[in-house]
Amino acid sequence: MAVLLSPEFPVGRPARAGGDEDASTLAGAATRRPIVGSVHSWDLSTGVDGPGTRFVTFLSGCPLTCLYCHNPDTWRMRNGKRTTADDVVAEAAKYTTFIRAAGGGATVSGGEPLLQPVFAGELLHRYKHELGLHTALDTSGFLGTRATDALLRDVDLVLLDIKSWDRDTYKKVTGRPLQPTLDFARRLADLGKEVHVRFVLVPDLTDDPANIEGVASFAASLGNVSRVDVLPFHKLGEGKWQALGMNFSLHDTPSPTAGQVAAAREAFTAHGLYAV
Ligand code: SF4
Repeated sequence: MAVLLSPEFPVGRPARAGGDEDASTLAGAATRRPIVGSVHSWDLSTGVDGPGTRFVTFLSGCPLTCLYCHNPDTWRMRNGKRTTADDVVAEAAKYTTFIRAAGGGATVSGGEPLLQPVFAGELLHRYKHELGLHTALDTSGFLGTRATDALLRDVDLVLLDIKSWDRDTYKKVTGRPLQPTLDFARRLADLGKEVHVRFVLVPDLTDDPANIEGVASFAASLGNVSRVDVLPFHKLGEGKWQALGMNFSLHDTPSPTAGQVAAAREAFTAHGLYAV
């Protein structure tokens, strides 16, 4: 997932229970044990986590190490809190009436939620079928092969980060290869699943016009991308890097100007995409 850089990114409250392992139990309803995951936090959010006001669950653990990550404290699963799906869904249920009235839904985010596919799938299933909410999965796509077709059937919208088109830049930004994300994007297109693409604009890193054009051209070719969020890089998360004793290598990188952001959005709209 896709922890993003938007100023709207919520600061969640701590979850009530804790843990650092993937859910592992799916059995008959009458006998099944609680499904447990590692949760960083949850919160209500309005912004880039999907349409309307949403109950966003941030799962712990991420295989990427994005240079601009806003929440590096979500990277390690063991730093999350073991939490049952029952507890998370019960919390979401408190806001269901309000969320429905606000035209919102529930988003499973991270960290990278597909690092805990069973737990993430359980939450998505229950948000959709128990609470009747619109559901979104917020992911980098790197672990897209872990999303089963059954999991994706419980997802109304995928918020997919495509952090770069240039493969070397993608590796530099994330520490991982780009191809799994592209493969997942194609699979979502084949399934006809609605996607919002997110692209973080970082001066002197991801802002090369050819790089932006590559993401735009690819996104337009999919046919299922209903929105593109061009997110201006900022350094609001730098303090967390320092608190974790990690070097924030983009300390001297400026935020893009309004003109640079507008030009990037134009690159997407030129392909017929809706970009904000
Ligand atoms: S490292 Fe990247 S993918 Fe992982 S949580 Fe941070 S921004 Fe999201």
